[in-house]
Amino acid sequence: MAGAEAKNYLRENLAEVQNKIERAAQKVGRNSDEIKLVAVSKTHPNGILKAAIKAGAKVFGENKVQEAEGKIEEVGRENAEWHLIGHLQKNKARRAVQLFDVIQTLDSVELAERLERICKEERRESLSVLAQIDLANEATKNGILEKDLPALVEFLQTCECLKFGGLMIIPPYFEDAEKVRPFFRRLREIRDKILPNGELSMGMSRDFQIAIEEGATLVRVGTAIFGERN
Ligand SMILES: *Cc1c(COP(=O)(O)O)cnc(C)c1O
Repeated sequence: MAGAEAKNYLRENLAEVQNKIERAAQKVGRNSDEIKLVAVSKTHPNGILKAAIKAGAKVFGENKVQEAEGKIEEVGRENAEWHLIGHLQKNKARRAVQLFDVIQTLDSVELAERLERICKEERRESLSVLAQIDLANEATKNGILEKDLPALVEFLQTCECLKFGGLMIIPPYFEDAEKVRPFFRRLREIRDKILPNGELSMGMSRDFQIAIEEGATLVRVGTAIFGERN
């Protein structure tokens, strides 16, 4: 696709998503300024990310460290805020600390210990992390179980470098998007208990308006901005 054409559809899609964010916020009496749009750029090439920045995108979500490293170097660490939204493997932790502004997928005390140690070694004074919660008890998915969360929160309170920023969820897939609402609501209840002003990262292209109605402060939207992935 030609550069100029790419820019136009990105501008339109971003405006439409932003509009929907505003309407969903209004519906429940929230201020849309408190909702940050994470443009999920996984699988899309650098040219599209650069065009998205020109069209107004400020935050990107990538799900693989290996894919993200070339992209962040080429698009520019300073030109956007970079969030890791995919599972972080132990052996990729150092690279993730070097590359990302926010790690949304912290899912064990062990990983937190490793990230804290690496931050010190890399002289990274502060790294924002969200705990990814598995509310559905889906063995195939990542995320910490609710029963294991208190130990993680306790550990994070002792960290010098890791800043506990809030909670994130990838709920199970339902044909009827409305069925995810109880998961979003439950995540908010947990957040209210453990970190009242923390972020709530929930909602993707098909359900971000529902997530906003339930209190999302970060929505992770890919397809509705960039189109279908191959
Ligand atoms: C891919 C992905 C998204 C975006 O999904 P869309 O349906 O394309 O909006 C959001 N969150 C996570 C964790 C993802 O992996």
